[in-house]
Amino acid sequence: TDIKPVSLRQVIDEAMLLLQPQIKQSKVKLGLFLPEDDLIVKGGRIRLEQVIINLLSNALDAAAASPAPHVRLHLRQEGEDAVLTVCDNGHGIDEEAMPQIFDPFFTTKDVGAGLGLGLSIAYKIVHDFSGSLKAANRLGGGAEFTMRLPLADERI
Ligand code: ADP
Ligand code: MG
Repeated sequence: TDIKPVSLRQVIDEAMLLLQPQIKQSKVKLGLFLPEDDLIVKGGRIRLEQVIINLLSNALDAAAASPAPHVRLHLRQEGEDAVLTVCDNGHGIDEEAMPQIFDPFFTTKDVGAGLGLGLSIAYKIVHDFSGSLKAANRLGGGAEFTMRLPLADERI
């Protein structure tokens, strides 16, 4: 796989652009919390866009049924890693489903609403770039996904 320095700010910008129709259609409030300085990771731009799109579109789906739906994307640096979280105030993930959500074709959505591939693809991509992807439920309700990727040493 072709691994190069990639700007996470650019990846997030482009993912947001591609998701505009879905965001506009929904009543979900989307918050972006980005650090002042861009973070450059080792990966592939298009594949990382795919990861962000998959996480955001799940969060939009989950939040949609809430009375005041919101989704937040946070990006920060932790040591030598970039850490990106996507959280929502939706129904959260059932504890029985938790061990399976990254499996291909696992879905709890209606037939036709989801193929169950988004998270398995995201997991594979992030691991190909020596990162990790984890899911958790938030104390106040809703889910939170955390992607961690090593920063690139080189500039772009
Ligand atoms: P799909 O979206 O097609 O169902 P995914 O692989 O993207 O497939 O997600 C698998 C399953 O993980 C979903 O069907 C859902 O049960 C659960 N899931 C993913 N993201 C969230 C989220 N933000 N909140 C609650 N459940 C989620
Ligand atoms: Mg999905």
